[in-house]
Amino acid sequence: MHEASLMETALELAAERAREAGASRIHRLCLRVGELSGVVPAALEFAFAALSPGGPAAGAVLEIESVPAMRWCDSCQAEFEALEALPECPRCGEWSHRLRSGLELELASLEVS
Ligand SMILES: [Zn+2]
Repeated sequence: MHEASLMETALELAAERAREAGASRIHRLCLRVGELSGVVPAALEFAFAALSPGGPAAGAVLEIESVPAMRWCDSCQAEFEALEALPECPRCGEWSHRLRSGLELELASLEVS
């Protein structure tokens, strides 16, 4: 499962940041997941529930923030939300291949003590 290894990496990173902050426990972690990243939030939650017990993030709250896919239209000089993977600008119908967001998977914030 793809999400399990992603969650493992996120937990390692979170534990490393907690150590750097001189903390031993993680209370809350927030992940930003792009709509086009191909990551299924429910699978991330499942992986978190399976992997976090026994580690510094045991019992922590997992927040998953979904980042919409945004594209930039050169003709309109405007950003628009790309629903699904359709690159068509809703205003002028031009196709935009400039993806501005939607592919991220990152650790956005962390609460430790
Ligand atoms: Zn346009």
